[in-house]
Amino acid sequence: MTPQPSVSKLSEAFALRRVAVMQTALESSAQGSDAWNRLLAELGLAVPAAKVREQLALRQPLKKGALPVEVRHVLERLQTITRKTLSDAAVGDETSAAFEKTLEHFVEEDMTLYLKAVRPAASPKSIFATAKATTKKYGDMNTKAVVEIVRCKSCGAARPEGTDLRVCDFCGGNFF
Ligand SMILES: [Zn+2]
Repeated sequence: MTPQPSVSKLSEAFALRRVAVMQTALESSAQGSDAWNRLLAELGLAVPAAKVREQLALRQPLKKGALPVEVRHVLERLQTITRKTLSDAAVGDETSAAFEKTLEHFVEEDMTLYLKAVRPAASPKSIFATAKATTKKYGDMNTKAVVEIVRCKSCGAARPEGTDLRVCDFCGGNFF
């Protein structure tokens, strides 16, 4: 019989892996990197085709980093795997309760930090452009139906026109 790893060992290994995921994602680009693609493959996730990545990257500018939706999938997979390992170790003491709580929240926490790191700051120029577009939109109100743009509250990507997606295809977060 192999000895079960202790919860503190599991939690330590998880914390290291979590940091490594963030680092690898940040050092990647929207087109991926060798290290990022390897990480996806190791976790059993499909590496998206270059064309798919290219299309998604056009949806929202990024300063750097792997595509947010891929990062979310990696974090969710890490969550599933770690939960499974933890339940196999089946301890149920105080340490594992705290660890379970961390596992519950880390995907959203890391996504928030990640998006903050990779999204370019809104420049005065882009704010001006938005204001101009809005003015134009209202100016056209009588001739054209006003298209209401739904934006993701996490990453700011606009929902593709003509869809009623509830989950953002750019970061995997909820539109509402
Ligand atoms: Zn989003």
